[in-house]
Amino acid sequence: MSATFVGMPAFPEAARAALGNTQLRQNLSHATGTIRSKRAAVVAEVDDWEELRLAGAEIKDRTLRHLDEHLLQLESALQARGVTVHWARDAAEACAVVAGIARGHGVDEVVKVKSMATQEINLNEALAAEGIAAWETDLAELIVQLGDDLPSHILVPAIHRNRSEVREIFRTRMASAGRPAPEGLTDEPRDLAAAARLHLREKFLRARVAISGANFAVAETGTLVVVESEGNGRMCLTLPEVLVSVVGIEKLVPTWQDLDVFLQLLPRSSTGERMNPYTSTWSGVTPGDGPQELHVVLLDNGRTNVLADEVGRQALRCIRCSACLNVCPVYERTGGHAYGSVYPGPIGAILNPLLKGVGVDEQTDSLPYASTLCGACFEVCPVRIDIPEVLVHLRGKVVDAHRSGRPTGPDLAMRAAAWVLGDARRTAIAEVAAGLSGRVVAAVGRRALPGGRTAIGRLPWPASLWTDARDLPSPPRESFRAWWRRTDGGRRDDAGQGR
Ligand code: SF4
Repeated sequence: MSATFVGMPAFPEAARAALGNTQLRQNLSHATGTIRSKRAAVVAEVDDWEELRLAGAEIKDRTLRHLDEHLLQLESALQARGVTVHWARDAAEACAVVAGIARGHGVDEVVKVKSMATQEINLNEALAAEGIAAWETDLAELIVQLGDDLPSHILVPAIHRNRSEVREIFRTRMASAGRPAPEGLTDEPRDLAAAARLHLREKFLRARVAISGANFAVAETGTLVVVESEGNGRMCLTLPEVLVSVVGIEKLVPTWQDLDVFLQLLPRSSTGERMNPYTSTWSGVTPGDGPQELHVVLLDNGRTNVLADEVGRQALRCIRCSACLNVCPVYERTGGHAYGSVYPGPIGAILNPLLKGVGVDEQTDSLPYASTLCGACFEVCPVRIDIPEVLVHLRGKVVDAHRSGRPTGPDLAMRAAAWVLGDARRTAIAEVAAGLSGRVVAAVGRRALPGGRTAIGRLPWPASLWTDARDLPSPPRESFRAWWRRTDGGRRDDAGQGR
């Protein structure tokens, strides 16, 4: 199942703690603001961006409709090129396959390309339990690993760290994992990158087994694709003797022509670049060139359950660009750890419950509520995942999963509202009553809002469940019906004169 961080509380509690960390919010605000601007600028350059988004969504949906056939085609193409294909139903099976391959080669360390799938299945921890060290080689992943930290962003896992924190991590922790940081290391980005490069270089040259994920898998030729910015992926994919790629079954695209669309959508949406600095593709074993033993682990781990959900299956279009995180007002304030998973932000709020199922634990069930439903995530998503639609769908499933047979407070409130709103006379009486009581409450606890509006302040329990977290606008002095009667539907003015 998806990797939720062990012991994490439900989102509201974790978010409250994160909101008290001013340094974290400053780091996040600066980083997400920078990526947002870069993305907006490069997307604006593309005249047919909306057509590209539509094409991306259509290709993914078409692929998912025939996923069984495409997967078999991919398997055949991979095998024809000398690749060993493994099928993994869940995290345990996938980890066992990878550990078995590493053990079979007698290694006690592997190097890794940044991969969400391997984080999802907790591969590093599974390998550590077998006495095999898994070294992350992406710079941000290295910072997280050395800092004994948790990732907080899909693309930039150490986004919550600023450069002086990174310097401190390198200075104090690098030696325990290999080559120490140079003497007198500064917090200049160039110096930090050079320190990481030296530290990693000896690992690249020594490792006999590498582990990667894949951004895409092209079924027609059995080609795997990794896009990255640093070149560490290219080193892992070419230097070791053995390469194991753990690939979620939704990463598949049928043809190279389909891939073309995503190679335009992904870099602009993720790093705000026109194209990736490094795009590596490999199709099986090439004698004398690159790894001579290739394995692909095709991972389900809940994806077929997502596919069975008619509303939720659009989440399988995700190409992990992280654009939705960078525009989300909730993510920007709480950071990624509050979501308690390797998949944070808006996509995490839907993907985790979809992969794990709702009603399993409180933390996962809290995620569909970690959103204002503002829709900014849908606006930027390169494959048009309607995240707000899926969030509302999942909230319904969470409510259903917790029904005990006895009506809850919200159930009773909804039944009462249906009874009142189902009859015009009852609605009219309720409006008068609401206006009177609302004015009394507003007079007690009125507070000013921007734009000259007012809201009702804090109310006692149970109404405080609403007023503690949201503005409750003061009721208008006159109901719509009263206004209609008084003005004859707007045909008379306040003085009773016809317009
Ligand atoms: S949901 Fe869309 S915007 Fe968010 S990471 Fe996935 S592809 Fe990117």
